[in-house]
Amino acid sequence: MKLLSVIIPCYNEDEMIPIFMEEMRKIEASLHKDLCFEYLFVNDGSSDGTLQEIRKVHQKYPNVHYLSFSKNFGKEAGILAGLEEAKGDLVTIMDSDLQDPPELIPLMYQKIQNGYDVVAACRSDRQGEPQIRSFLSKTFYWLINRLSTTEIKSGVRDFRLMTREVVDAILSLKEVNRFSKGIFSWIGYEVTYVNYVNRQRKAGKTKWNFFSLLKYSIDGFVNFSEIPLNISTWIGVISFVLSLLAIFLIVIRKLFWQDPVSGWASTVSIILMFGGIQLFCMGIMGKYIAKIFTETKKRPVYIIKEKA
Ligand code: UDP
Ligand code: MG
Repeated sequence: MKLLSVIIPCYNEDEMIPIFMEEMRKIEASLHKDLCFEYLFVNDGSSDGTLQEIRKVHQKYPNVHYLSFSKNFGKEAGILAGLEEAKGDLVTIMDSDLQDPPELIPLMYQKIQNGYDVVAACRSDRQGEPQIRSFLSKTFYWLINRLSTTEIKSGVRDFRLMTREVVDAILSLKEVNRFSKGIFSWIGYEVTYVNYVNRQRKAGKTKWNFFSLLKYSIDGFVNFSEIPLNISTWIGVISFVLSLLAIFLIVIRKLFWQDPVSGWASTVSIILMFGGIQLFCMGIMGKYIAKIFTETKKRPVYIIKEKA
């Protein structure tokens, strides 16, 4: 019988843990002939009763294990810790808020048996999500798919069923700045999707706000595209050529029409504009340098305080 590891990153989800477990037990029962389940809760430095709730389910069910971080390291760290710890022949990553429908697991398993290496869940809509978040997400996917050679499909979640081989491939990427959506796509393999209608969180609230999403998107760009660097180079080249042309025109004007250019307002505006462009391009470079800095420090992605 195959072992399926279910990784559940949790941050302040005390209300959700028992509800999640209850739902999962049903799926586990329906698959008991084919799969043996192992649950791996990753408590990402929650400040509420999440760890206590996890301890309770751990005591209740022998196949529930957990890791607890020393502080909040983010969902990416939770995913990595879970993947490193998972022993399963098959592995899946699920949110604890039941926005990743457990009912999809049997269908996903069927597709794995048909020979796919990865079966990812894909939301076919963004119903119930704030309009502004949908709009920004769509813009992000549109942009990143133009700027990066790694394709990142809109609506695809971290919720996916993977074979051991795929998990080992993910773990072979040793980067500290982890952007899983990109990593999942970058490794390749035979991937298929199961579509489902967006779900609302059952309890608790989302951990994302405008700024954390913006930071996450920028991380995505910096980790999976070098094009922003090329863009800044091209802005530089184009403005250099344009200014050469302008100088040439001014010299001609002065020589033939004795008409020097007047007006400091225009000069100041142009200086300000180029100052802005330069700072913008330096900012882009700074982002990449900051990533190099954190990569070279080789700090661990997470620290485990408690494990069972
Ligand atoms: N999460 C986490 N660490 C964090 C933020 C979130 O482990 O710093 C977990 C969270 O508990 C949940 C999952 O990641 O199980 C998805 O988070 P959320 O539901 O807030 O994201 P959304 O569904 O709104 O994209
Ligand atoms: Mg959620």
